[in-house]
Amino acid sequence: MDKVNILGVHVDMVNISEAADCIMRFLDEDKFHAVFTPNSEIIMHAYKNAEFADLLNRAELLTADGIGVVHASKILKKPIKERAAGYDIARQVLQKMNYTDHKLFLFGGKPGVAEEAKKNLVKEYPELNIVGLRNGYFKPEEEDEIVEQINNSGADIVFVCLGAPKQEEWIDRNRDKLNVRVAMGIGGSLDVFAGRVERAPEIFCKTGMEWFYRLCKEPWRIGRMMELPKFAATVITKGKNYKQYQE
Ligand code: UDP
Repeated sequence: MDKVNILGVHVDMVNISEAADCIMRFLDEDKFHAVFTPNSEIIMHAYKNAEFADLLNRAELLTADGIGVVHASKILKKPIKERAAGYDIARQVLQKMNYTDHKLFLFGGKPGVAEEAKKNLVKEYPELNIVGLRNGYFKPEEEDEIVEQINNSGADIVFVCLGAPKQEEWIDRNRDKLNVRVAMGIGGSLDVFAGRVERAPEIFCKTGMEWFYRLCKEPWRIGRMMELPKFAATVITKGKNYKQYQE
């Protein structure tokens, strides 16, 4: 797959349906695959932290979650066609999985969220095989137990919803212990599946204004969002210096 190097993070140039197709192919391969969907905040985090950049680059699929990343790819003259957010990719994967025997594990969110998400998802996808649930609040010493729970469930794919960068770090730390074929970090998506959080209306997503909608709903995000203009400025001024790593 073609990639664009955005400040040292090698993002796959795929849209939502290409990403979902790729994950379905991963499910047919007998090995582990990590799927991350970095937004501009996460790429900025990786820009400042080489170890985290390496961690992201170890993923088998990295998609552009956020209009900032899509714009960055255009500035770097390797345009990604559209934003491929984790939630939208997960939706397409669920739809496709509904017609297969693949098994899903839901991991993350506050206690009760995964249960509510399961209830809603099986209403929508009646053939979906959800084989395990675990909330996302745990002590470090409980981590092995969680990996064991996921492995014992026989899941082929796990949605890890701990927020970024926690979920990416969790997946990477456990990639050699997990027996699943796909571990996908999809942030607050379980809250949306559970009906606890509303997704921004389509018009905001399509016009690249989802960040504005989220800012109005969750003003505490302002600190995190201040990374956006810094990200744009860094891509414009420094983005091309990263060309040597371009694939
Ligand atoms: N979360 C979790 N464990 C933690 C911290 C967060 O399960 O230790 C969950 C939290 O309940 C929420 C999600 O992770 O469901 C983070 O959502 P957010 O929208 O902030 O993440 P983003 O998509 O912005 O990374």
